[in-house]
Amino acid sequence: MNAARKRIQVAGVVQGVGFRPYVYRIAQRFDVRGYVLNSSDGVVIEAEADEAALEGFLAALKSELPPLARIDGLIVDSVEPSGDEGFAIRESAPIPGHFALAPADVGTCSECVQDFTSHSNRRHGYAFTNCTNCGPRYGIIRDVPYDRCKTTMAEFVMCAACQAEYDDSANRRFHAEPNACGECGPGLALLSAEEIAQGASPKFTAATETLDYARELLEQGKILAIKGLGGFHLACDASNDYAVGLLRERKRKNGKAFAIMARDLAAAERLCAVTDAERSLLTGARRPIVLMTRREGAGVSTHVAPGNTRLGVMLPYTPLHHLLFDGAPYATLVMTSGNMSEEPIVSVNREAGPRLRGLADYFLLHNREIQARVDDSVVQVFEGREYPVRQSRGYAPEPVDLGRPVREIVACGGELKSTLCLTKDRYAILSQHIGDLENLETIQFFRETLEHLKRFFRVSPVAVAHDLHPNYWTTRFALEQSGLPAIGVQHHHAHIASCMADNGVSGKVIGVAFDGTGYGTDGRIWGGEFLACDYSGFERLGHLSYIPLAGGDSAVRQPWRSALAYLNAAFGNEAAAPSLPLYHEVPAKQISFVNAMIARRVQIVDTSSCGRLFDAIASILGIRHETTYEGQAAVELEAAASGEEGVYPFDFIDGMPFEIDLRETIRALTRDYLKGAPASAVSARFHRTIARVIAASCGRIREGASLNRVCLSGGTFQNLRLLSDSVHQLRARGFEVFVHHRVPPNDGGISLGQAVIADAHR
Ligand code: ZN
Ligand code: ZN
Ligand code: FE
Repeated sequence: MNAARKRIQVAGVVQGVGFRPYVYRIAQRFDVRGYVLNSSDGVVIEAEADEAALEGFLAALKSELPPLARIDGLIVDSVEPSGDEGFAIRESAPIPGHFALAPADVGTCSECVQDFTSHSNRRHGYAFTNCTNCGPRYGIIRDVPYDRCKTTMAEFVMCAACQAEYDDSANRRFHAEPNACGECGPGLALLSAEEIAQGASPKFTAATETLDYARELLEQGKILAIKGLGGFHLACDASNDYAVGLLRERKRKNGKAFAIMARDLAAAERLCAVTDAERSLLTGARRPIVLMTRREGAGVSTHVAPGNTRLGVMLPYTPLHHLLFDGAPYATLVMTSGNMSEEPIVSVNREAGPRLRGLADYFLLHNREIQARVDDSVVQVFEGREYPVRQSRGYAPEPVDLGRPVREIVACGGELKSTLCLTKDRYAILSQHIGDLENLETIQFFRETLEHLKRFFRVSPVAVAHDLHPNYWTTRFALEQSGLPAIGVQHHHAHIASCMADNGVSGKVIGVAFDGTGYGTDGRIWGGEFLACDYSGFERLGHLSYIPLAGGDSAVRQPWRSALAYLNAAFGNEAAAPSLPLYHEVPAKQISFVNAMIARRVQIVDTSSCGRLFDAIASILGIRHETTYEGQAAVELEAAASGEEGVYPFDFIDGMPFEIDLRETIRALTRDYLKGAPASAVSARFHRTIARVIAASCGRIREGASLNRVCLSGGTFQNLRLLSDSVHQLRARGFEVFVHHRVPPNDGGISLGQAVIADAHR
C-alpha cells in the first residue's frame, strides 16, 4: 500500500470553533496519520495515508463542518511522506505578518445547559461552563492564534478533571480553550452599592448561594449591575412596574426602549408574535436581541418600551443568564447596557462602582477579565432574512468576504453609532459597535478597538478613510495619522457602497440614501439623497428640497423646529394651520422666535435630511415635539401608523440634481389631519407617499441613466414599514432592489462603505 502525504492549508473561521478536534476525529476515522495545528493564518494539516483514505478524509473535511466553522479557502499540496505514527494536535505556530479569522462569541449550547442544570453533574450551578461548541471567544482573546494562554483565561490553571477533558479527543471539551469548572475557573461575587462605595474587595467563589441571593434580589424588584460576557448589564424584573420605572428614572429619563431577556422561547412567544425567521435568530448561536412585534397585553412594564409597538427580546446566552432564571418566579428581565446613556458599556470591575453609581442597588461581579467590550447585537427580520440594527457580540469580528483582494485600509466610520473597519486580503473586518464619539470614554474605546484589531489581524494600513464632516472626531483622527494618505468619503456614498458590499454588488447602481445627517459636498447637511454611484465615485442626481432648520444641532432634539421649517415653506411664514397641536403644545415665545430666525435666516442650517422630515410629521401630528434619543420621533411615527388607504401628492423640480418638493404633501397632510383624519391614518399615508417618492425618483433616474439596480441604505430604512413599501413599489416598476443583510443600514455600516470606496481610490 503506497502512502501519500498532503499538506492542507485551511482559511476561514477555523479557530475557536472546535475545528482541530473535528479534524482529529475524521483522521481517526480514515486512519490518517500526521498532525493539525492552528497557525496565525488559519489551520494547517499534514495528512498521510493511502490515496483512497486521503480522498475520503478530504471529502469529509469539507462536508461535515462543525456548526460554527466556515471554510473560505483550502490549499492542498503533495509533500514527501514522513512515516508519522498516529495523528496529533500540535502546538500552535505563529507566522509573523499573517492572520487568522478570529471567532465571535458563541451562546451557550444545549449540552452545556444540561451540565450546569443537572444536580449530578460536577458543573451543577457553575456560571462559566463552556465547551468547544460554545462560550466566550472575541470577548476574551488577547491575541491570535487562539490558545488559552492568549486569552483572559490564562490566569486560571485547569484542575486535573478539566485538563483531562481538554486532553481527551473523545470529549466535548477537547481543546476547548476557556474550559473551566467551579474548582479551577472564574467565580462570582455579589456586593451591595454601599459595599462597592466603601471600596470592599469582592471574594470570588463558585458557591451557588451567590446566585440564589441574586435571584432573590431580582424577585424583590432590585436593580442589579451584572457583569456579563462583553460588559455590564443593568437588570431588573421586566414585569415589575416599579423597578423598571425606577431604572428609567435613574437612566436620566432617556426614552430608549430597554431590551428584555426572556427565560426561554416560550416566554419570548408570550411577549411577541414570533415568526420562523425570528425564532431561528433568537435560538441561534449568535443570540442577538431580536426586535419583534409585541403582543397585546405582553406582561412587561409599560416603562420597558414606551411608544413602541415592538420589543427587543433575547434569550440567555451565558450560563450565568440561564442560572439567573433557574427556578426564579420571573420569566423576563430587563437587560440594558450598563452605562450612562451616551457612554460605552462598562467592562471592568473597578470601573463599575464609580460609573454605575446611582444606577444599581447591587453588583454581581466575576473575575474573568473582559478583553474586548461587546454590546448585545440587535437585529430585525425583513422578508424572512436578517436585517441588522447593531452588530457586536456574536458577530464581531467575523469578516465580510469581499470576494476580491483589497488593499489594507483603516476606515474610521462616522460619529454616531460608530464602528470601524479594517480590510485585509479579501476581507472587511468590522469592529463591534463603539457608540457615539461624543465623550472621552467612547473615544478611548475607539482607540483601543483599533489597536486591538490591527494587532489581531496584522493589518498595516496604506490609507485611512474618513467622513467629509470637518467636525467629526473621526475626521480629525484620520487626518492626524501621519504618513498615511487620508481619503475623505461622502457620507451617503459610503452608505450606498456599504449596501453594495453587503450584497456583493459591483458596477453602477442607483443609491437611495435616507438618513438624519450627512455632510454634503456643498457644505450643507444631506439626508434625502438619490445617487448614481459605484465604488469609485458618485453623482448626486436628486434630493429632497432643502428646508431651513433653525438652531442646527439643537433641532435634532426638537422635532417642532423641523415642523416649523416645513410648515412655513408650505403655508408661508404666517401659520396657516394654527389649530395644529404644535401651536398649543410648544410655548408661543419659542415658536415666534424660531419663525423669526427662519424668516431672517439667522443660525439656519439648510438640510435635505429625511430624518428631519419624519421629525416634522411627528410634530405636526402631535406625536412628539421633543426627543430624548436620536430617531425617537420617527420610531413613534412608524409605530403610530395604521390603515391601508391613501397617499398625498408631491412635486419634482427639474434640474441637476432634481429636487423633490414636498410642500404640497405637507399642505394635503395637514388639511387631512385637521379635517379629522386620525394620526394613525395620516402617518400610514405619509409612509406610503415617501415610498412613492422613492419609486418615482428612481424612475426618473432610470430614464436618464439606464440603471436598473437600486440600493437602499441609511438609518431611515430601519423603518420597516417604509422599507417594505419602498421595496414593493420599486419591484412593481421592474427594479432590482438590494437591502442590507450583513451590516446595518444606519451609520454602523458606513465604515464598510468608506473602506471599499477607499480601496477603489488608487
Ligand atoms: Zn457548550
Ligand atoms: Zn476545573
Ligand atoms: Fe447616515
